Amino acid sequence: MSTIIYPSPIFGPVHSRRLGISLGINLMPADGKMCNFDCIYCECGFNKDHVPTLRRPSREAVATALEAKLREMRTRNERPDVLTFAGNGEPTAHPDFQNIIDDTVRLRNQYCPEAKISVLSNSTFIFKDSVFEALMRVDNNILKVDTVDSDYINKVDRPQQPSYDIHKIIDQLCRFNGHVIIQSMFLKGRAEDGTDVDNTHERFVGPWLEAMKRVQPQEVMIYTIDRETPDKALLKATPAELNAIRDRVIAVGIACTASY
Ligand code: SF4
Repeated sequence: MSTIIYPSPIFGPVHSRRLGISLGINLMPADGKMCNFDCIYCECGFNKDHVPTLRRPSREAVATALEAKLREMRTRNERPDVLTFAGNGEPTAHPDFQNIIDDTVRLRNQYCPEAKISVLSNSTFIFKDSVFEALMRVDNNILKVDTVDSDYINKVDRPQQPSYDIHKIIDQLCRFNGHVIIQSMFLKGRAEDGTDVDNTHERFVGPWLEAMKRVQPQEVMIYTIDRETPDKALLKATPAELNAIRDRVIAVGIACTASY
C-alpha cells in the first residue's frame, strides 16, 4: 500500500480501527497535502511530494457535499458512526473551521443524530479562540501528542513553525478540562537518515505520562504505524510494548486503548 491523498471535501465511509464506520471530512485541497507538521510517518506522504495546486474547499462546498452524502447514505439505509475531520493535513487550519463545525453539527442532528463528530488534529491551532471553542463542541476532540521531547518532535513530527513549543501545547490542553482525547504514535527503529526514532523507552514514556496526568484527558489512544510511511525505514512498536504503555496510563486512572 502506498501513501494516500484523500478526496475532498468528503471521503468514505471507511472503517477506522479506532472510530468505527467513519465518514471523512477533508478540509484540505483534493490534489495534495497541506499541513504545518511534516511527520515522517504521515500516511499522506511528505509535504514536498504533494504540493497542492487547488484551494481548500469553502465552507459552503463542505456543507453541500456533506449533506448530499448523508442523503445518499440515508437512501441506502446506511448511517455513519462518526463524522471524522481528517484527510490531507491539519483540519483546524481551515480559516472557516468554526463555522464548518456549526454546519456539521446541524447536519449531523438532521440526518444521523446518533453519530459522533470527531476531529483529528495536531494541536497547533488550539490557541486560537475560534478553534478552541469549536473543539469544545465536538464529541471526540482527538489531539496529537507523540512525545514531550522537543528534539524528538523536531525529528519526527517536524513542525514547520519555529515557534512550536510542546510545553505551551500541554498547558493549553489542560484548558479543555478533560474534553480531549490524546492520540500518541509510538515507533521503533531508525529513520532513513539513521536518526533513532524509538519513543517506547522510559526516557520518552515517563515524561509523556506525566504530561497525561496533568492534562487528564477523557482517553488516550496509543497506536503505531499501519500503512506505508514516506520514510521507509520506520518500524512498528510491538503489541507487547504498546500494551505495557497502555497499562501504565490506565494505572494512573486514565482510560487508554492501544491499536497495533
Ligand atoms: S500532523 Fe497528521 S497530517 Fe500533518 S504531517 Fe503529521 S500525520 Fe500528516
